[in-house]
Amino acid sequence: MTIEELNQKRDEHADKITKLEKDNEAYKHVNSCLMAEITNLKKRNGWLESGFIHTCHDDCQRPLCLANREIDKLKLENAELKELRIMNLAGISTASFQNTRESTKERITKDNPYWTAAYDDVCRTVDREINLRESLDVAHEALAKIKDVR
Ligand SMILES: [Zn+2]
Repeated sequence: MTIEELNQKRDEHADKITKLEKDNEAYKHVNSCLMAEITNLKKRNGWLESGFIHTCHDDCQRPLCLANREIDKLKLENAELKELRIMNLAGISTASFQNTRESTKERITKDNPYWTAAYDDVCRTVDREINLRESLDVAHEALAKIKDVR
């Protein structure tokens, strides 16, 4: 190989080295971008695992999961209580219309879950109404007899 050929080879290698160094810089940049992205994703993953969007089993003891299960339980209890109150009120309403001796036989008893103290109050008031109506009938009959006698 001549000196000139060797010089030419050296220049070619120098160019290749320059190109490789440029590529290397570009890869380093891509790498640092990816590392930043990985850090972000790790942060987000940690947040998801400890935060609101978390899939777990029924015995998960994370405070947020315990609280969410308690909220679900209370929501269910609340819905059941609402339903019970509606039926309690429906019972009271029905009792207020059952104001004949015959219809009072349809009343519910204390062992019924829809029975309430207020239901009992309404029943006693209706009983008083029935008794007063019957007393009035007796009084009317007596009055009619007196008028007949005159
Ligand atoms: Zn959980």
